[in-house]
Amino acid sequence: MAQHATYAAAPPPIANLTPQQQRGVECAFCAIVLTPATAVDFEGEHYFRRAGERFRWYPRHCRTCTKGGRS
Ligand SMILES: [Zn+2]
Repeated sequence: MAQHATYAAAPPPIANLTPQQQRGVECAFCAIVLTPATAVDFEGEHYFRRAGERFRWYPRHCRTCTKGGRS
């Protein structure tokens, strides 16, 4: 019901992101540098595959992202 607080449940494809975005240093949507006060974790756990192995990664986005969840 609180539509303004709704963001996409899933981050963008990891292949499209910079190393900083992949580490959660920058917003996965707009690439702004995040701080503990502005960063929000995506829900759930996120993995990518490399060389046949599955790795966990920790994408984050900014709390008031203007790009998050909108296409
Ligand atoms: Zn953002």
